[in-house]
Amino acid sequence: MNNNILTLVKTTNPATANLKSVDKTLFGQVHLVGAGPGDAELITVKAMRLLQEADAIVYDRLANPELLDYAKERCDLIYVGKKKDQHSLPQEQICELLAALARCGKNVVRLKGGDNFIFGRGGEEVDHLNKEGVECSIVPGITAAIGCAAATQIPLTHRDYAHAVTFITGHRQNGKMYINWDLALQKDSTVVFYMGLSNLAEITSQLLERGCPADKPFAVVAQGTSNNQQVVLGTISDIAERLKAMPLPSPALLMMGDVIKANGYAEQLAAQTLSSYPTIKISQV
Ligand code: SAH
Repeated sequence: MNNNILTLVKTTNPATANLKSVDKTLFGQVHLVGAGPGDAELITVKAMRLLQEADAIVYDRLANPELLDYAKERCDLIYVGKKKDQHSLPQEQICELLAALARCGKNVVRLKGGDNFIFGRGGEEVDHLNKEGVECSIVPGITAAIGCAAATQIPLTHRDYAHAVTFITGHRQNGKMYINWDLALQKDSTVVFYMGLSNLAEITSQLLERGCPADKPFAVVAQGTSNNQQVVLGTISDIAERLKAMPLPSPALLMMGDVIKANGYAEQLAAQTLSSYPTIKISQV
């Protein structure tokens, strides 16, 4: 269905209609807009205005669908979301779709969960639009790490525990993980793994093998900032076991560092999550 949208847009757009010169002043603009981490209210005022003005919204799986209610009546709503291992529209085609819509004179919002530039392929989209001579703007969003940290009161750079925070992808590409383990093992720092839930056991065992202290606090936050937020706490040594007993839904973030213990709020949330799994026997954190 999405392929049909791209074909339709291409056949009606001047730049593919073999015109000798194209008047770029007639092009629309593309705004790469961060939707925030889950809670629909965590979107910026600017993003909200652009959503309300858009002629087309191209959105993905992690953007809260409630935000689409703000679109104007005749706005095209185009889903290009990806499911794990199943891309509904390849990235090159998403880039081309954005450019093609703008060439039709549409004012386009590319709405993505969190921030478009944090593991969001926003860089590729900007490159493509620049090459195509389509004007674009970037509206930052609250990335999942920042949203989840706020919702769990985990102060990522609390000065007593951490002088740095690192965002790392725990995703596998062509079967391989590309984690810079030295970076993940830096002292006095907090590490947040995006897209790491399904590789949790491997990530934690590799870190332990490379000398990570066995009692390093570890948290998994699923569907952070939403009404269904769930939190599991433990240490790097036992978190994989805990997750086996309490499987969490995606999307989920892995957080590692002493900041997790900085105050008791994350523990309270973990206890609430634990109590919703009444048959679990593992000791409470
Ligand atoms: N651009 C997004 C990240 C996309 S990568 C951002 O800035 O947040 C997708 C990963 O983000 C997920 O696998 C998960 O690790 C994380 N993620 C996104 N939303 C989340 C949420 N509400 N709670 C926990 N993790 C989330």
